[in-house]
Amino acid sequence: MLKNKTALVTGSTSGIGLGIAKALARQGANIVLNGFGDAEGPQAEIAALGVQVAYHGADMSKPSEIEAMMASAAERFGRVDILVNNAGIQHVAKVEDFPVERWDAIIAINLSSAFHATRLALPAMKAANWGRIINVASVHGLVGSAEKSAYVAAKHGVVGLTKVTALENATTGVTCNAICPGWVLTPLVQKQVDAKAAALGLSNEEATKLLLGEKEPSMQFTTPDELGELAVFLCSPAGANVRGVAWNMDGGWAAQ
Ligand code: NAD
Repeated sequence: MLKNKTALVTGSTSGIGLGIAKALARQGANIVLNGFGDAEGPQAEIAALGVQVAYHGADMSKPSEIEAMMASAAERFGRVDILVNNAGIQHVAKVEDFPVERWDAIIAINLSSAFHATRLALPAMKAANWGRIINVASVHGLVGSAEKSAYVAAKHGVVGLTKVTALENATTGVTCNAICPGWVLTPLVQKQVDAKAAALGLSNEEATKLLLGEKEPSMQFTTPDELGELAVFLCSPAGANVRGVAWNMDGGWAAQ
C-alpha cells in the first residue's frame, strides 16, 4: 500500500517509533530512522522487510540538526511523504522541584521538534498534494498526571499543533493526526516501573501491576505493533479524511 512512499520516523531506534517504522515498512514504505543508541540493529530489521532504509542521528532538540535531517532525507528519497513525530523523553518531579533544564529539554524534544519537522516537510507534501503527518502525543495530551508538568504541557501542545496543521491543510491531500498511547512497555516506561519498584521495595512484576492499576483499566500495555497498525490506517486511503484527530489507544485510561 505504501510502496514508493518515504516515511521519516523520529526517535525510531527504540520503542514505539521503531514499531511504527516497521509497520510502515511492512506496507512497502522506505524508511528514514532517527534516534540515539544502536542504529545498526534497527536498520537491519527494516532492511529485512525489503525496503530501503536510511538513518540520520539528528538531535531533535536542535533545529539546525532537524533541518539537516530533513534535507538529507529529501536528497536521498526525493521527499518525505509520511512524517511521524515520535521522539520524546520524560522526567518526573513536582512543579516546584522540576529542573529548569529538564523542562526546556522536554519542550524542545517532545513539542518544538514536531513543529520544526512539520514546517520543513509541508512544502513538498503540499506540492505533491499527498502527505501524512502523525504526531505521537500521549494520553497525557488529553488528561494530566501529577509530577509530569513538562510532559503533559508538551503533549497537550502537540495535540494543539496537530489540530492547527490539519486545519491549515484541510482542503489538500495532506492530513495531520495525533496518536495518544496509554502505557506502552518501552525503555521510557520501564524507567518509571524501576523507580516505583525502588521507592516502594517492590518486585518488577508488583511495580508493573501497580503502575497499570493506577491508570489503565484494561491492565494491559498497548504495544508498538498495535500503534504501528493505527499509523498504517491513517496512511491508508480510508484515512484520507481523518483530520485533526487525537486518537487514544490507552486501555480505557481517558474514558474514566
Ligand atoms: P523510547 O525511550 O523507547 O524511545 C524514544 C526514542 O526517542 C529513542 O529512539 C530515542 O533515541 C529518541 N530520542 C530521545 N531523545 C532524542 C533526541 N534529543 N533526539 C533524537 N532522538 C531522541 O520511548 P517510547 O516510549 O518509545 O516513546 C516514544 C514516544 O511515545 C515519545 O514521544 C513518548 O512520549 C510517547 N509515548 C510513550 C508512551 C509509553 O508508555 N511508552 C505513552 C505515550 C506516549
